[in-house]
Amino acid sequence: MISSDVIIVGGGPGGSAAAWKLKQGGMNVRILDKAMFPRMKLCAGWITPRLLRKLKIIEKNYPHGILRFSTLHFHVYGIPLPVPTRQYSIRRIEFDHWLLKRAGVAVERHRVSSVERQDDGFIIDGKFHCNWLIGAGGTGCPVYRHFFRELRPREKQKQIVSMELEFRLKPQTGKCHLWFFLKGLPGYAWYVPKPDGWLNIGIGGKQEEMARKGWDIREFWTFFTDFLLKKGFLNEKPQAPGAYSYYLRQQGQVQDGHAMIVGDAAGLATLDMGEGIGPAIESGLLAADAILSGKPLSFESIPRASLPAILFPWKR
Ligand SMILES: Cc1cc2nc3c(=O)[nH]c(=O)nc-3n(C[C@H](O)[C@H](O)[C@H](O)COP(=O)(O)OP(=O)(O)OC[C@H]3O[C@@H](n4cnc5c(N)ncnc54)[C@H](O)[C@@H]3O)c2cc1C
Repeated sequence: MISSDVIIVGGGPGGSAAAWKLKQGGMNVRILDKAMFPRMKLCAGWITPRLLRKLKIIEKNYPHGILRFSTLHFHVYGIPLPVPTRQYSIRRIEFDHWLLKRAGVAVERHRVSSVERQDDGFIIDGKFHCNWLIGAGGTGCPVYRHFFRELRPREKQKQIVSMELEFRLKPQTGKCHLWFFLKGLPGYAWYVPKPDGWLNIGIGGKQEEMARKGWDIREFWTFFTDFLLKKGFLNEKPQAPGAYSYYLRQQGQVQDGHAMIVGDAAGLATLDMGEGIGPAIESGLLAADAILSGKPLSFESIPRASLPAILFPWKR
């Protein structure tokens, strides 16, 4: 049996932030992830100054590409609203791998399927033992499935479904555009330039609202990519990607004894913009604090909305 003080299931931003802090606090930590890093993660990769501060990342010291936006180009019901701000974009394939390495803990490629409680902790797949368990495995996290499904049932109306594609495109304007309620989409569509000529386009909206109206997200994808072609943002029609789902912030329990859930496993994305990387990181750091201090875990300090920080970035 391989034993650790803490096992974290999932090495995305939530898991690696927790590991980074726990390691600094002298804990013996092991991350189990089914994927081999660097791994692709469907995500527009928009990140905030608050997130950089929380992780003590200085922009110029980040070793991969990072783009800074001084304006976000909002379009609400077709009306252009340029908003001066300070926001960033990164590529998740680079960012997540770098965070994981920086955490400096043992990482093992392992798909977690069974988790059992034992008197003094947890046994995972009959192979790993730990005193504390953090579920940071995203929407399908096995720790959520085993211990939190009943304690924190996911609210259907908070489910987001999204489609996105990341590819190289040159030339491009370097401007970040966000279209709200395009063709009635209960969410928004984006065009996010990334470093080194990469581009991320996507759409995301509330699943329940779309289902109620009999809409399929793939129809929005077709409409959106035709729209980008017509407006000259793209020069050829991209393929249709698969869809991915995650949850917006809701109330409920995130700790049960020595088991905790963070990030998408808990469903913490902001209510207005579906920003999930920042909440994943903050919840990971808070879970680490709770273990180190012995105090109960609470996510009250994590912002519920992104717009205030976009409009007043210097205040956050
Ligand atoms: C299309 C799209 C665009 C988005 N754009 C943005 C954006 O621009 N900005 C933003 O802030 N948020 C965005 N989000 C949300 C953001 O991507 C997530 O909220 C964030 O990645 C959550 O991080 P996490 O660490 O909780 O989980 P993840 O990053 O999903 O990491 C979970 C890890 O767990 C591993 N895992 C899963 N199951 C198991 C298992 N059984 N055993 C072992 N390992 C397992 C996975 O391999 C993965 O590495 C977007 C989401 C989508 C779908």
